[in-house]
Amino acid sequence: MRDVIIVGGGVSGLYAAQLLRAASLDIQLIEGSSRIGGRLHTVYTPEGYPVDLGGQWIGQQHQRALQWIESHRIPLHPTHTKGYHLFIEGTSRRRYKGIIPRLSWIALAELGWALSRLKKMSRHVSVEKPWQIVKPAWDETTLAAWMRRTFRTRQAYQTCAVGLATVLGCEPEEVSLWHTLFYIQSAGSLEALIQIQGGAQEFKFSKGASSLTESLAEEIPIMYSDPVQKVEWKRGKVRLFTKSGRHWDAHTVLFAIPPARLSSIEFEPPLPPLHSQLAQHMRMGTITKVVAIYDKPFWREDGLSGHVLKLDGALRITFDTSPPDDSYGQLTGFGTGKLARHLLSRPADERKEYYQKELEAIFEKAPRQLYQKTWSEEPLIGGCYAGYFGPGGWQYVGETLRQHLPPLYWTGTERASIWMGYIEGAFRAAENVCETLLQKKVS
Ligand SMILES: Cc1cc2nc3c(=O)[nH]c(=O)nc-3n(C[C@H](O)[C@H](O)[C@H](O)COP(=O)(O)OP(=O)(O)OC[C@H]3O[C@@H](n4cnc5c(N)ncnc54)[C@H](O)[C@@H]3O)c2cc1C
Repeated sequence: MRDVIIVGGGVSGLYAAQLLRAASLDIQLIEGSSRIGGRLHTVYTPEGYPVDLGGQWIGQQHQRALQWIESHRIPLHPTHTKGYHLFIEGTSRRRYKGIIPRLSWIALAELGWALSRLKKMSRHVSVEKPWQIVKPAWDETTLAAWMRRTFRTRQAYQTCAVGLATVLGCEPEEVSLWHTLFYIQSAGSLEALIQIQGGAQEFKFSKGASSLTESLAEEIPIMYSDPVQKVEWKRGKVRLFTKSGRHWDAHTVLFAIPPARLSSIEFEPPLPPLHSQLAQHMRMGTITKVVAIYDKPFWREDGLSGHVLKLDGALRITFDTSPPDDSYGQLTGFGTGKLARHLLSRPADERKEYYQKELEAIFEKAPRQLYQKTWSEEPLIGGCYAGYFGPGGWQYVGETLRQHLPPLYWTGTERASIWMGYIEGAFRAAENVCETLLQKKVS
């Protein structure tokens, strides 16, 4: 019988395992897939260049993550930002610097007002208790409904929609206004979410994000490729049954999986109603990540930064994620909006071809290799970047996110109050739950 079994080998599960192991607890981690890392996944080009299909950036506010990264000497480099960004609307292409593209003066005024309004509104959310809704109307409405009331120009609406869909990983029609405000407050500010320099996109893992999860996995006993399917639980004892037919016993189990995935596990006795409802309310985001490799970052020769914001199509945003020595070029893009969603009904090859054509149309050059990943196809994760609530979600089931049911405990980025949805949130949620577990002196 183990002291603690951790289910899920993403950042949160692995970091919790490190903290509990350091406190001399007898632990075991069970990971359903054949690799650790969860939403961090580095693959390599034939030349050995790292390509991050999941999370890749760290910001200077990501203190817990940076502490680990620095103490384990995991190399980071600043994201390239020099040069002009490109704003593309139909056949028009305009260069700009800063966060806001060169829009018509009406659209610019509308967007400026809307962003400052979002900032002010987000201050009403307590990140510690976001289920305490002080403005019920904001939890009853979607972000899109608020945007429709706020913007008169299509240009401002579309620019805001592309930006926020890229940040949230879901469309404005899907997410509640309150969740959007929580997300902003959880990151500390809107700027922290959207800026490259000084924001969440400031640094990139030079050897790929898996360099982080590999270091987190050191000395942790891990059982791979065996998802937990059934849990029998009572006070002080839990028995887990995995797909292979094995069973594991522990005093305590810490689930480090996205809340939505709890619905794939049978609990005996069943979880209390609000906990099982949480799995249905907290949907995973839907965004496609595209990474293109070129011989060199050729766009820089034309004075461009590689950062593009585009109002039409499926690939509506790109960033320069090339290595610091310019030995090759790398662009990362995100597929959002109606067309990107429609593409999900097409085979992966067709999607890849489509994204390649869009990139070629933007940069007038074919990439050497192109990678695309849709996380909704990962059965043990179900989407990305993270779980989110639609209208009513925070109000009715939000509180259960942070309610443990001893001997069952929860972690994962969705459970964090600070930087929820990010690698930092995964670290912080793990730290919080381990503090609770260690105070209770689990043994
Ligand atoms: C495309 C993309 C881009 C992103 N970009 C960034 C970024 O640049 N910066 C940033 O900070 N964040 C980013 N994120 C978010 C970040 O990756 C996540 O917040 C973080 O990795 C979540 O870690 P986690 O441990 O909470 O969950 P996960 O990584 O989802 O780990 C959960 C683990 O549980 C396992 N599991 C699930 N069910 C079972 C079961 N029944 N039995 C056993 N194991 C199970 C899964 O296989 C998985 O390994 C991005 C995410 C994606 C997908």
